Amino acid sequence: SPDFCSQIITPTCNTTFSYIDDLNKNIRPSLAELVKTSYFKYFKVNLDKQCKFWNAQHFCATENCAVEILSPDQYNWTNVTNPDLKPSRLGKIERAGSTAADGSIETEEPDTCEDLDYSHIDDDHQCVYVNLLNNPERFTGYGGNQSFDVWKAIYSENCFPNTNPMSMISEEKEQCVEKNLFYRVVSGLHASIAVHLSNEYLNAETGEFYPNLKVFMERVGSFNDRLSNIYFNYALVAESLVKLAEVLPLREFIQSGYDDISPAQQQHLLENNAVDPQDKYDDLLLNKIIPSLGSNPLFNTSTLFDPKSVDPKLKDEFRARFKNTSAIMDCVGCDRCRMWGKIQIIGYGTALKILFESEDPNNADKLRFRRIELVALLNTFDRLSKSIAAINNFKELYLSHLEDV
Ligand code: FAD
Repeated sequence: SPDFCSQIITPTCNTTFSYIDDLNKNIRPSLAELVKTSYFKYFKVNLDKQCKFWNAQHFCATENCAVEILSPDQYNWTNVTNPDLKPSRLGKIERAGSTAADGSIETEEPDTCEDLDYSHIDDDHQCVYVNLLNNPERFTGYGGNQSFDVWKAIYSENCFPNTNPMSMISEEKEQCVEKNLFYRVVSGLHASIAVHLSNEYLNAETGEFYPNLKVFMERVGSFNDRLSNIYFNYALVAESLVKLAEVLPLREFIQSGYDDISPAQQQHLLENNAVDPQDKYDDLLLNKIIPSLGSNPLFNTSTLFDPKSVDPKLKDEFRARFKNTSAIMDCVGCDRCRMWGKIQIIGYGTALKILFESEDPNNADKLRFRRIELVALLNTFDRLSKSIAAINNFKELYLSHLEDV
């Protein structure tokens, strides 16, 4: 049954698991193609940021935990941001020309839109660039008390006053639908990571990665709530994309290029034919993916954070606590897991910012979006989309396994 329709999706919501399965089959090829393009495959991240909550050790020392970063001589991107390029304004593209010389630009504290952001975004001298295609999210071997403590800390952020911290990891004890939303987003992220690590599980003998049905069933397949939370997140992110296309001129936003890479370096990409043509983004994102998602409402947020029924401070607290989860990511002791964890928390943070801040007229001047947020949003959507394709594949594996016994 479509239980993700309950509570925070309207009672008239006609979204079902099979509706999302069909929708996903339809857009999957375009989305998989989109995240391979030059705009969406590069991610800027600080992998050396100190964990500020406890003395985190990096115990995952296998090569599967490593991240392959772009070396400075490849694109000379490291340690460079362009202070002249401000994040684009909502509904208005600001693209200032730059006079900064290639490779010699001083990093400036970016406009971080502190009050409306739901996640921290790395933008400092320690940042490196990563080609996500060379660093897939899959089994790394990271686990034990290390990862358990991180998950526990993340779930504990949902402990708004009057909730019991220790209950959150094992059962849903929501005080209100907003807290339930927080829990489901985190649990859906957790479950999606588990799908990816079981779908690309390491065979220690051959060194190859393969779909491991047993691990999938133990981590996700046997838990209806975890499966449901993946679909729930899919609906949430899909709806945010539809809304983003209404409030931001996406074509111009993408066309205006990289707000975190200097014009000279962009020129370098152009000269090396490493930039995909705008037509490609139009075809995949604007003509195919967004119209398919927008054909039916997937997620209704109109009753959430309604000042008539909840304390207006609840949204500020929700935002601050969600933002804290992105800082907890610095405590993940495996580089590959930490990088994908950061991408997805920024992706969900961007989706929440779109859904809960973009319609408030008071925010019109304050709301900003940057390339990295769009990159994270689309990659997070791709993670969920790939998870759903994998779940359907595991379903078939499970049925044929039953026939064999
Ligand atoms: P865990 O997944 O660690 O779960 C701990 C407890 O949480 C469980 O015992 C259960 O009670 C509860 N729980 C589990 N799933 C859910 C859910 N969906 N909703 C609610 N409660 C739940 N490993 C990789 O191999 N590759 C990766 O890319 C990767 N990325 C990670 C990213 C982050 C941010 C973190 C914190 C960990 C990551 N890991 C990754 C590790 C992985 O998530 C597991 O922690 C690890 O595989 C150990 O799994 P486990 O079965 O012991 O339980």
